Amino acid sequence: MRTTWLCDFDGTAAPADIGKALVERFSAGDPARRAALLADWIAGRVGHRELTVAECATMRVTGAEAAAFARGFGLDPAFAGFVGAARAAGDRVMIVSEGFDFYIADQLARAGLSDLPWAANRARFEGDRMIPSFPYGTAPGEGGAGCGRCGNCKAQHVRAARAAGTTVALVGDGLSDRCAAAIADTVVARGSLLAWCRAQGVEAVPFEDFGDVAAFASAGRSAPAPAPRRAASGGGS
Ligand SMILES: [Mg+2]
Ligand SMILES: [Zn+2]
Repeated sequence: MRTTWLCDFDGTAAPADIGKALVERFSAGDPARRAALLADWIAGRVGHRELTVAECATMRVTGAEAAAFARGFGLDPAFAGFVGAARAAGDRVMIVSEGFDFYIADQLARAGLSDLPWAANRARFEGDRMIPSFPYGTAPGEGGAGCGRCGNCKAQHVRAARAAGTTVALVGDGLSDRCAAAIADTVVARGSLLAWCRAQGVEAVPFEDFGDVAAFASAGRSAPAPAPRRAASGGGS
């Protein structure tokens, strides 16, 4: 069966967390208040949607400044190769992100990956105000398919890929990947996502960069189909 590789963006396809760096660079708010907000999200007291709204309210940045700042970052050098190999094998790759449309589209275009599908939050700029919106942020009761707490609940993308008849591998590094990691068929993780998986008993394959992810994907594709179990071939169970 084909696999859909759902890849987180910030801290995963892009080694740096561009969204977090934007907040740190352009927040005009009190750093202690910002740290408290982040702690509330890590502890599960607020969802990522609420966290994003609160963070953006503290920021003073124009669209041009935000775009120029984000251009200082780049994708994992092995990401485009991973995408090419996965697609050549018939798999699908999609970016699922709690970050923002403008820098994801720009980063993918600069890497020659304009046609890679992605789902993320949106940002609109009015003067020096950055205003977020959440096309994937609603729960079923509100007409969406997310958990209602995430800005872009990645679980909905796992369910959609599965409904399209593929198995689903999630590649991620952070706590915004939790909803997807809990239900994906395979989890490839680093950072706080890997720690969370270990604490929750969710099986996860560790990775450092997309060279590792590509090797893992390729090993899965070249593995021979498991032989039928025969009582005579084993030595017991
Ligand atoms: Mg991340
Ligand atoms: Zn969620």
